[in-house]
Amino acid sequence: MDPKTLIDPAAGVFYFLFLAMSLAGVGIFVWRLRGKWLLLRRAAPEDRFNRWGERIRATLVHVVAQARILRDPATGLMHAFIFWGFCVLAIHTASLFLGTWIPGLDFERRLGAAYAWPKDLFIVLVALAVLWAVFRRAVLRPARVESSGEAYLVLGLILLLMLTDMGAEAALHAAGVPTYGFLGAALGSLVAGWSRTGLQALYAGSFWIQAATILCFLNILPGSKHFHVITSLPNVFFRKLEPAGRLRTLNLEDENAESFGVAKAQELDWKVLLDVYSCTECGRCHEHCPTHTTDKPLSPKRMNDHLKEFVYKHEQALTGASTGEVPDLFTAGAVGEDEIWACTTCGFCEDACPLFIEEVQWIVDFRRYKTLTESHFPEELTKAFRGLETNSNPWGIGAHKRAEWAAGLGVPTVGEAESFEWLFFVGCSGSFDERNRKVAQAFARLLQKAGVSFAILGEAEGCCGDAARRTGNEYLFQTLAQANIEIFKEAGVRKIVTACPHGFNTLKHEYPQFGGEFEVWHHSQLLEKLVLEGKLKPSRKLDLDVAFHDSCYLGRYNGIYDAPRNVMAGIAGVKVSELALHHRQGFCCGGGGGRIFMEESLGSRINHRRIEQVRDSGCSTVALACPFCNTMLSDAVKEKELEGVAVRDIAEILLEAVE
Ligand code: SF4
Ligand code: SF4
Repeated sequence: MDPKTLIDPAAGVFYFLFLAMSLAGVGIFVWRLRGKWLLLRRAAPEDRFNRWGERIRATLVHVVAQARILRDPATGLMHAFIFWGFCVLAIHTASLFLGTWIPGLDFERRLGAAYAWPKDLFIVLVALAVLWAVFRRAVLRPARVESSGEAYLVLGLILLLMLTDMGAEAALHAAGVPTYGFLGAALGSLVAGWSRTGLQALYAGSFWIQAATILCFLNILPGSKHFHVITSLPNVFFRKLEPAGRLRTLNLEDENAESFGVAKAQELDWKVLLDVYSCTECGRCHEHCPTHTTDKPLSPKRMNDHLKEFVYKHEQALTGASTGEVPDLFTAGAVGEDEIWACTTCGFCEDACPLFIEEVQWIVDFRRYKTLTESHFPEELTKAFRGLETNSNPWGIGAHKRAEWAAGLGVPTVGEAESFEWLFFVGCSGSFDERNRKVAQAFARLLQKAGVSFAILGEAEGCCGDAARRTGNEYLFQTLAQANIEIFKEAGVRKIVTACPHGFNTLKHEYPQFGGEFEVWHHSQLLEKLVLEGKLKPSRKLDLDVAFHDSCYLGRYNGIYDAPRNVMAGIAGVKVSELALHHRQGFCCGGGGGRIFMEESLGSRINHRRIEQVRDSGCSTVALACPFCNTMLSDAVKEKELEGVAVRDIAEILLEAVE
């Protein structure tokens, strides 16, 4: 028996109404989509049409298998069941519309039990996932999720889709129509005693409500946060495949460029717009964002919201459909100066985002506009830029003092060494900052004890340029990077080791953008290797309770979590504990992105928040592997008067154990 016999009393009217409703629903959807598509077409170019194999693999892992979403199993499974349910139910939806217009296209009935069982299973799972989502939003209220009527509306529509499907299955089964799956048999008994008219009404009601709900749902998508239902797949497919810590190069030679960086919506490239469309407003990105959680104006989620609001508001003018003026993003308040300068570029937001939205690059592009085009940036940066320009370090200290830290240690420069395997790139903090000079000394002594052949550049070393690049001064960064690359090449450098994760990231990932291809290691990696090979024997027992603090540029950006922990764990008597926020969720010290050179006058201090987390761990020592983290946390210890907490680099602790 054809299921439509249950709703067939006026077939002609039925088909006409259904066709009209479907065409209207799909037509409005396409019309609404058109504006968004035109915006993408007119956006600035960005080349992501490469490395297809990697893109397909990433899409399978992060869209189909929902890998990032499932990092948090409780909410991840809920979302994954709804997503997988939608994929399975796509055949049902196609059958509902196409099969009604053209009977031969009723795939669902043709597949029979092979489709009915998984479909029924996902109807139940999706319904349970929706109920859990409502409970979570209404009762558990996780801090990162903001209350939204749209979310409840969409959850309600999804639940309605599942319930109407259950209703239709029950009516069909009770009317004697084969239903193949288990839902019809299970629910059909509930309506078994109904008259044929009652069953017809149940089926027809379920059918019409379901079709109308699907069309409503479709039309809610464009312009809402649920647009990600459509855009998340392409957004993940076109994600950045470059190393996470590599920023885009700016072509400073472009003679046609009227400005550098981004200040206008027209200057946003199509991938930024796709990011903006795709944001689900889930709030994962600001859960441990150091600026948002210390009450500063920047929240990556809100920056996304404001950009979305702006481009949708000016969609007509941006697509050329109207002639209105489009103000620049700063003037319109879509992007705030306090926001862009607050960012530590810690990368938590990008790593947490299930859709790989790339806020750090946007923020640096906004900073580039302010720094390069307007020459307008926080006052404190003036001194740092001048120091970098004149003496290649942010404090402007004379180059002759660069190697003072090594006095009496017998560390050769590349000119003095007969040959060397490793260049120890000391970096500005290790060279000039009193606290971090001790770390450079400890590391050099460890290398000597292990018999490693190494040399330093001494006066010839220049700043790596990390802070210049991340504060938007791309011109200065490129000058510094090119100078260092030239010096490395002249000195015959092949392998570089540095104790600074910022230098490590820049040398490893950004220097290749300018022809500087070297093998770059972080000191934690080399120390781990030397201990494993028995070249360093930490035989002295230390009695230390150590909490390890992950540097963002070592952990999140470069995935180096184990090496520094292994160095600590190899020392007898050292007990290594984890802070409440560690590994991927490691909380920034507040010094990245050039923030170490700026005042922190808004909200509470990020380094104070981190040192409070150290204090709460009960450990007497916080071990780290980054000079900026060392400075920021040492300052926090003094300012919070937590003298019982020692801030030490892993090289210093290892040296104590080796000696
Ligand atoms: S940017 Fe990503 S993590 Fe942040 S709210 Fe949007 S989808 Fe969620
Ligand atoms: S990079 Fe860090 S500080 Fe900047 S917006 Fe993202 S989470 Fe916040």
